Amino acid sequence: MKYVDEYRDGELAKTIAARIAAIADPSRTYHFMEFCGGHTHAISRYGVTDLLPANVVMVHGPGCPVCVLPVGRIDMAIDLALGALTPGPSPASGRGENFAPLSPGRGAGGEGASNITLCTYADTMRVPASNGLSLLKAKAKGADIRMVYSASDALRIAREEPEREVVFLAIGFETTTPPTALVVREAAALGLRNFSVFVNHVLTPAAIAHILESPEVRDLGTVVIDGFVGPAHVSTIIGSQPYDYFAEEYAKPVVIAGFEPLDVMQAIEMLVRQVNEGRAEVENEFSRAVSPEGNAKAKALVADVFELRGAFEWRGLGKVPYSALRLKEPWAAFDAERRFAMVERSVPDNKACECGAILRGVKKPTDCRVFGTACTPETPMGSCMVSSEGACAAHYTYGRYRSAA
Ligand code: SF4
Repeated sequence: MKYVDEYRDGELAKTIAARIAAIADPSRTYHFMEFCGGHTHAISRYGVTDLLPANVVMVHGPGCPVCVLPVGRIDMAIDLALGALTPGPSPASGRGENFAPLSPGRGAGGEGASNITLCTYADTMRVPASNGLSLLKAKAKGADIRMVYSASDALRIAREEPEREVVFLAIGFETTTPPTALVVREAAALGLRNFSVFVNHVLTPAAIAHILESPEVRDLGTVVIDGFVGPAHVSTIIGSQPYDYFAEEYAKPVVIAGFEPLDVMQAIEMLVRQVNEGRAEVENEFSRAVSPEGNAKAKALVADVFELRGAFEWRGLGKVPYSALRLKEPWAAFDAERRFAMVERSVPDNKACECGAILRGVKKPTDCRVFGTACTPETPMGSCMVSSEGACAAHYTYGRYRSAA
């Protein structure tokens, strides 16, 4: 397949591996964080770490959208879907009339059924929440929770079922934010009265800054980070410029890389060279898709619809300032949090789960005592075992724990 097979060529991988081994200084260890879950998945799937010299260590980062969603936000979505929330005070829409929620009367779908239809992606439905629940289990209790492939699927359901209050549970980094902005604008243009979004979109640069400012990195030195493999899809939207700050302020090299194994290996070679030469620059291995400025249209769309939240809780990272988005006032009618008076919740993770430490790069999946026993992709106890981009799921699926044991 054009533009795929070329980036999975085993002989070329060996050539790059040999180059990395030749330039890696044997008197030191290199620690590089791959921020993005897509890279974590690629590294596990293609055995990239097996090709690296022992002194080039990859540290998994928090860039898996499902993994960083805290328990409290899932609990809020479950309460909403089960009809445990009352409508809010009819938020006004600057784009039209006041869109009061439809009557929240309970439907005939069984225990806890309401007139709310919650739409979200498949992985989100399996994330463990409080009290042994998940969205999937709430669905079994009678909540109308539907798996969708895109934000526009949710909008279509709202158009087809005007008697239902359709809420799209939106998650993800900068890549999935523009499609959410688009459906909000479309819903306004259509005058839809029964559509809203529970916004959980988070921002990559804020999370990287938070990691670099964390005590583990800054003071304790328990997580050494010599550079970052920068995300692929996110960078197609935001461009390479937002990473300049990390090179300039923290003297950390960043190399933006595509998701194929040769992309990742090439980026690692570029990082080793930067460290050896004492450079801290932003380099772009993924120039076939990423420009310095990013996608101007997508950024303008997001800027029209969203604004920064003061702080947002991330699983593993805690409250991170200015790290997430919410709908701007003119679009308030489509904001599920305001529409249904949803109250922010902070809920601790399962005590047995080490996802928080794994997402901060402090621990590896194999450090968790229930990894691969009580916790597997079929029986996830934590969010890192749910999505294929989660570090635990990637390690388990591709057998990386065997060599690490
Ligand atoms: S193995 Fe399961 S319980 Fe352990 S850290 Fe990973 S997701 Fe959490």
